Amino acid sequence: MNRLDTAELQRRAARIRCLFLDIDGVLTDCKLYLGPDGLELKAVDVKDGLGIKLAMKAGIEVAIISGRPSPAMRRRFESLGVRHLRLSTEDKLPAFEEIRTLLGLEADQCAAMGDDLPDLPLLRRCGLALTVADAHRSALSAAHWVSTRRGGDGAVREACDLLMDARGQSDAAGTVGAG
Ligand SMILES: [Mg+2]
Repeated sequence: MNRLDTAELQRRAARIRCLFLDIDGVLTDCKLYLGPDGLELKAVDVKDGLGIKLAMKAGIEVAIISGRPSPAMRRRFESLGVRHLRLSTEDKLPAFEEIRTLLGLEADQCAAMGDDLPDLPLLRRCGLALTVADAHRSALSAAHWVSTRRGGDGAVREACDLLMDARGQSDAAGTVGAG
């Protein structure tokens, strides 16, 4: 267990300038619906999308790193305005370092939210390690904070609220349209 007390959680959260997100199991419920001809369907939560937009409007960059290719997910997150998307990226730490360096941020200014073994290098490297209620035990063990919601069911919105609340910006972002 790696949990922080409330004061330390708030201190770290207030420093975060970029939130790194995993897709499967964090922005989705980790399920793939397999159709004929190789069709894959996943569902995302619109509340998460709005949280991402609000966080970006509040000045927190959002980056998404996923091991799986998905043109549909690329379209979804590009439509939300996410500028840092790395799909088909199984080794996530180099992508994290590349984006962090591009943004001129220290590791302790970055939060990462992941749910399973491929996310552990990021969770251990960043300043604030976040995971979802139904994460694998490895991510639960590494995380500083665990959402009450499950992956794909508003967990990312909860994380965005955590970061914005720590900056006193939960209501400052105003209206940004649908997520
Ligand atoms: Mg995952």
